[in-house]
Amino acid sequence: MSTPTTSTATTGTPTEPVVCARAVRKSFGRHEVLKGIDLSVAPGEVLCLLGPSGSGKSTFLRCINHLEKISGGELEVSGELVGYRRVGDTLHELREKEVAAKRAEIGMVFQRFNLFPHMTAIENVMEAPVRVRGVKPGEAREQARTLLSRVGLLDHADHHPSQLSGGQQQRVAIARALAMKPRLMLFDEPTSALDPELVGEVLDVMRGLAADGMTMVVVTHEIGFAREVADKVAFMDGGVIVEYGSPAEVLGNPRHERTRAFLSKVL
Ligand code: ADP
Ligand code: MG
Repeated sequence: MSTPTTSTATTGTPTEPVVCARAVRKSFGRHEVLKGIDLSVAPGEVLCLLGPSGSGKSTFLRCINHLEKISGGELEVSGELVGYRRVGDTLHELREKEVAAKRAEIGMVFQRFNLFPHMTAIENVMEAPVRVRGVKPGEAREQARTLLSRVGLLDHADHHPSQLSGGQQQRVAIARALAMKPRLMLFDEPTSALDPELVGEVLDVMRGLAADGMTMVVVTHEIGFAREVADKVAFMDGGVIVEYGSPAEVLGNPRHERTRAFLSKVL
């Protein structure tokens, strides 16, 4: 499923990574949370990001999605700098509107489902295409029906979030993110807030997305999912990537003591 970064697309140009981080740093005041992250995610690749609480995983996702500004290094999505436009040799900060347009190309799913409580499932899915992209409501509704059926919830289209289980709400949240036709999906512990019996249905939807070729960065403690679905696994601790490789390498034969210690706790 993964495409090597050196492969050649039909246009004859080399395939660019969807995410490319070079020595990315992020500080909050004097607290340096990301201490030089180098990472690249190829089109169609699924990267699972593991690591203990506080290691900087969410901060890294938030940087990719323009929710935090990096303090150093370079971060690109689809070959374009996050937060800046390059004009000749100088960098110009993007305006708020430009940032919003860029963010709309990335889907993000959080631990908490963040659905609009006063809207039905289908209205939640239609909302961004209509408001941000100006899609006609009829067309957005049709597309939303397709997406709800993809996450197995077409029969719940007119339910409000309060009438849905946590797993169903998270599946609506995934459909809502997909409605913007993102080139990249970021998941930040999407199953951590769910009752154990509801985890599987959300992972199944994510598995389907991966099989359809979606590029995904998934922060998760679901080692089984990482082993089965990820093309690459990165283990992060203390703001650095300690270990990176195939699931078999990182999960099956970790080289670093910190990775081994972490895995022994979550497995
Ligand atoms: P993880 O997702 O791996 O648990 P986070 O990226 O949430 O880690 O947090 C990493 C560190 O950054 C933590 O010490 C956290 O307290 C700190 N941090 C995260 N966001 C902020 C913020 N907005 N202001 C100050 N510190 C923050
Ligand atoms: Mg986090």
